[in-house]
Amino acid sequence: MRRIRPEEVERARRDPRLHDATEYRNEVIRGAYRMSGDDWLRQGNCADAELDTMYPEPREPVDAALAMCAACPVRTPCLVRALEARDRHGVWGNTAPRERRAMIEVWKEVNPLAVGA
Ligand code: SF4
Repeated sequence: MRRIRPEEVERARRDPRLHDATEYRNEVIRGAYRMSGDDWLRQGNCADAELDTMYPEPREPVDAALAMCAACPVRTPCLVRALEARDRHGVWGNTAPRERRAMIEVWKEVNPLAVGA
């Protein structure tokens, strides 16, 4: 697996999806959101998707999965879950694995104690 380059991390730092995830996490901590556990997962657009679609082989396109995520009502909690779990595989929260690997580097500053840190 190719190492994440510093410019990818800097791009991730400016990514609005990451900003939304950070804000969502802060709102959960403040108690503004009541969604807990994995309740949100049942509302995901990928609930009936093939596993291969959401977990394409390396170098296979992720477009179909990202198209599903783009209109998904729970894409932000989904991304938070993936970042908290340091999940570097598959498509989660409207991010491709490599994009998310860069986001995880930034997220470690947001929550250094998350699972998989
Ligand atoms: S954001 Fe994508 S991976 Fe997450 S629940 Fe929605 S469709 Fe599934």
